Amino acid sequence: MPTRGRVPRTVFYIQGLGRAGKSPKPGEADSERGRQREPHNRLWCCVGCLKQIIEQSVYLDFQPDAPLHLGPEYGEIRMMDQITLKGKPIRLAVLDYGLFEVHSGPRTIGICGFAIQTDAGEVVLIDTGFPAKYVTDAEAATAEDLLGSFGRVLTITPVNTPDAQLAKLGMSKRDVTLMIQSHTHIDHVGDMNGFPGVPILIAKAERDLPRPLYWSGKQAMEWPDRAFYPVTQDLILAPGFEVLLCPGHAPGQLAFMVKLPDTGWVLLTSDAISRASEIDEGFAGSWDVPLAIRHGARLMQLAQERDALVIFGHSPQQWPTLRKAPDWFT
Ligand SMILES: [Zn+2]
Repeated sequence: MPTRGRVPRTVFYIQGLGRAGKSPKPGEADSERGRQREPHNRLWCCVGCLKQIIEQSVYLDFQPDAPLHLGPEYGEIRMMDQITLKGKPIRLAVLDYGLFEVHSGPRTIGICGFAIQTDAGEVVLIDTGFPAKYVTDAEAATAEDLLGSFGRVLTITPVNTPDAQLAKLGMSKRDVTLMIQSHTHIDHVGDMNGFPGVPILIAKAERDLPRPLYWSGKQAMEWPDRAFYPVTQDLILAPGFEVLLCPGHAPGQLAFMVKLPDTGWVLLTSDAISRASEIDEGFAGSWDVPLAIRHGARLMQLAQERDALVIFGHSPQQWPTLRKAPDWFT
């Protein structure tokens, strides 16, 4: 969620690009899958916008300096040597870690995590929300972290903790096999310490930092004493579970492609794409704007190629309608 940095002039160019919507597939509009898709049908136009931006980058204020990673169709994803899951994903739940208001906008955003279960009984937890002190006393915690200049907590109750969200699914923290930190901002790493013995998969670019990014006002966290699996490239964690390295929002931002038996491919953009409008806004305020644009484009391209359901990192429009725990995407 937190971002920093200056806005380059690319942004003004991007804002001028037009867009058009894409209708649901025939027969899909009334289906459950169609309803889940509805809030972001307009996404597909953004793929075109971003392709245009990439193709016209000579006119922009940056030059790509490394080849764009295009995903498994292009043979660039490798099986990770260190860690693979035994099973493949069978269901995915969106975890509700509370509501936050970002002053700029202003925007009301959901704070999300994900639990993914495999057919071998493994449970992968992606992200852990705000630190527990925000449940106890959000005002005091906000003051302590100097977060007030960025935004304010609207609702983070005891129901919005990883324990309570897992309990909704009939699970406990002890059921978690692997934790993934999509990146290390304050709204994602709050309970990173709370799973003793559970290894953490995280981008090397984040783990190499002296401390988790947390929030630029205050980097209040230490790294937990835990086994870390550092991600340096896209990888396949299991058949149908891909981890995509998408730096831009943060130095080691991760996104995820999960294939479910009924839903098909689901793209979890995490903060690589916070909300659909961020694409049109040119990812203003990202840690690295050109990188954010490039990876946003490749994620949208991948989603289009696989007809994936896209779940954004913090979409004010999508969040209220999104199916959440205790319900599953299957
Ligand atoms: Zn975030």
